[in-house]
Formats: sequence, structure tokens, C-alpha cells
Amino acid sequence: MADNTWALRGDLLDFTGEPVWGQVQAPQVRWRPDHWLLVRGQRIEAVRAEPPGPEWRRVDHSGRLVLPGLIDTHVHAPQLDVLASYGSELLSWLNDHTFPAEARYADERVAQRGAERFVQALLRHGTTAAMAFSTVHEAATDALFAVAHAQDMRLITGKVLMNRHVPAALEDDVQGAEEACRRLIRRWHGTGRCSYALTPRFAPTSTDEQLDMVAALWREDPSLYLQSHVAETQAEVQWVQQLFPQARSYLDVYDSRGLLRRRTVLAHGIWLDAQDRSRLEATGATLAHSPSSNLFLGSGLFDWRQAHEAGVRVCTASDVGGGTSLNLLRNLAAAYQVQALIGQRLTAWSALHSVTLGAAQALCLDNEIGRLEPGCCADISVWDWSEDEAIGHRLSLARGLHERVFAWFMLGDERLLRSVVVAGRAAPNIG
Ligand SMILES: [Zn+2]
Repeated sequence: MADNTWALRGDLLDFTGEPVWGQVQAPQVRWRPDHWLLVRGQRIEAVRAEPPGPEWRRVDHSGRLVLPGLIDTHVHAPQLDVLASYGSELLSWLNDHTFPAEARYADERVAQRGAERFVQALLRHGTTAAMAFSTVHEAATDALFAVAHAQDMRLITGKVLMNRHVPAALEDDVQGAEEACRRLIRRWHGTGRCSYALTPRFAPTSTDEQLDMVAALWREDPSLYLQSHVAETQAEVQWVQQLFPQARSYLDVYDSRGLLRRRTVLAHGIWLDAQDRSRLEATGATLAHSPSSNLFLGSGLFDWRQAHEAGVRVCTASDVGGGTSLNLLRNLAAAYQVQALIGQRLTAWSALHSVTLGAAQALCLDNEIGRLEPGCCADISVWDWSEDEAIGHRLSLARGLHERVFAWFMLGDERLLRSVVVAGRAAPNIG
């Protein structure tokens, strides 16, 4: 059992609540430098300043930053294959790059290797939990669940639903899709650390009948999740208006069917109005802000403060492959830059909270992930502050923790990752 009982030493940083917007002095930031985190089996048993007894195997990461494993609330597993595809905005990017890549996942060997590459890549980028899109294929979704399950990783995913406006090879139908969802839910929802997310790609690729089927499935089992996209580009919003003339807004296509709740995560939400924001707040649904994707595809600048002031829960996500990095530090840096372009400043605390405790709360999993707290699952990421002398010198000049952490994620990326722990076990070949 010795390998099952161990202690990690380092500088521990996490959150006890949501930091106040715009404040760099935040009492919700929990900074425990040179502490020991005691792990027994899958869980964190204790956190303390004193070294543990000899029965605890010691893993010394002194001087390194220890965070909860990062949580990516919006990412597409098959889209690692289309990262950084040149020259398109959203709708042509889907047709020219993404749909052909996703069609290849009909081949189960392609899907299996893709699932393995994706899960390994998440871990190598410091992400230990994700809410991810699979493809339209049931077998590819099975493969993705199975690979994550073998790692004991917290994964929420689902078969993509789309029965119109996509190439024939990717088109499902309402009845076949419902049957596939039911089989996948039976096999995977609640299996180990896997959960199922109903996954209509976005309103334009599902008919009214398919969205109604999703709503009916969800009413049967409210413990399921729901993930989709909303209001990413203006052209997309106009298209949705044409396709759903009875809907008050793009968001209303989902809202009018009861698809907004806790456990709903909608990517983007750039082009929403005040009534939409108030519906998100009232229903508890989450927006997954995906800044590197929004910049790369030129989709628009998300006004985080406006959403925050309306009481909308916002997480930061990679949205790979529209996003350009699985590493959430890179995406937090992009989030800061997007806010700067609209005259706002995102603190390091609001940023980091949105990929740790905030994301865990959005997924109703804050008793399991997102915190370095006894009883939580031992999902942990360990980072160097820098590996470059000039950057190390700059960090040494920081006048306080906020300045240091902010400069760390603005200047850092996955190359600083030294270790990742998933359910109490260090992932091999990292760091
Ligand atoms: Zn997306």
C-alpha cells in the first residue's frame, strides 16, 4: 500500500470561493507555500505545513506551484487534427476543416488512436478534467469514454447530435440518435468518473424534432449534462434567426425547450443581449468563454464583465480546435487580452478560478475536483514558475502574489508542467 499513500510538497494555490471581480487582494485565494498535500488512494487526505511521518512516501516539489488539475469546460476531442487551420471564419471552418476531420472518426481505429492522443494531450497540458465533444459516431464516443475511464479521469462527453446542414457522412436522424444516446448513457453515465452530456452541436445542425428529443431525454434523467454552442459569430446568429423564426433569440432556441439549467454549458455567448444574460443567470447555465478560439476565428470579443455583472457563470475553455492551445494558461492569457481590447482588466484570480473551482462548480463537481481540499479527488498539477532565466528574474521582482501569478500564466505554458496527478496517481511521461 506504500505507493497508495504519499505526500507531495510544494507551494499550494487554490480558491475557497469566487474572487471579487477586479480585486487583486482577494481573501478567497488560498496560498499555502511550502505545504504538504497528503494523498491516500484516490483522495486528498490532508494538507499541512508539517512534514508527514515515515509511512508516507515523499515527493518533493519544493519551490514549485501546485494547483488543482485544470478543468477544460469546452473542447472537441477530434479537433486536435485541425488545430491552426488557416483562413476561415466559423461556418466555412466547419465545412472546410472540421467536418472532414470528424468524418474520419467513422473508422474505429482512427477514433481509438484519436481518443488516446486526446486524453494524453489533455494531461500533458495540465488538464485533468474536461467536458468534451466527441463526434457523431457512437463507437468513437465509446472509445473516448473507455480511454478516459482507463486513466480514472473525470470526463464528461457525448455523441454529437446533428441531423441537418452537415455532410451526409456525419448526419444522424432523430430515432437513431436517441437510441445511440440511450446505449451510451447506460454504458457510461456514472461509470467510474465518466458522465454523459447530451451534445447537440449547435442549433443550426439540429431540427426542432431532434432538440425536442434531447429535452425529453434530459427530463428522464436530470443528472445528465448538456453541452452546445451559442452566439459565437454574427453570421451564425443571423442563420439561427432564419432557421428558428419563432425564437426570440438564439439562446431562446434552447431556453424555450427547457435546455438551460445547472449542468448546461454553452460555448461562447459573445452575441447575446440583456434578456439572454438574465435567462442564463436565472437558469444557472454556464458560458464557456473560449478566447483563443474567438481570436483565431475572428468571432468577436466576449464581454466577461457584462456577463459577470448579470450574474452569469463564466468559465474559460480551450475550444480546441478553433482554439489554438489545449493549455489553459495560454487561454487565460488570451482571456486577459480579449478583456483588455474592450477596456477591462481580468485579474489573475478571476482567470485561474474560472479553470479550477469555478469550473468545478459549473459542473456541480466541486466536492470532487477544482480544490486542494481533504476529501476531494487527488487531481493535481505541478508547475515550475519559469524555466528561463530572464522570466525567472522578472518573476523574482514581482511585488506580491497576484503580480507573480499573473506574470506566470501570461508568460508560461505547458512546458512548465512538471507533474500531473489523476485520482491519486502520477500520470507517466510528464515533466
Ligand atoms: Zn466548440
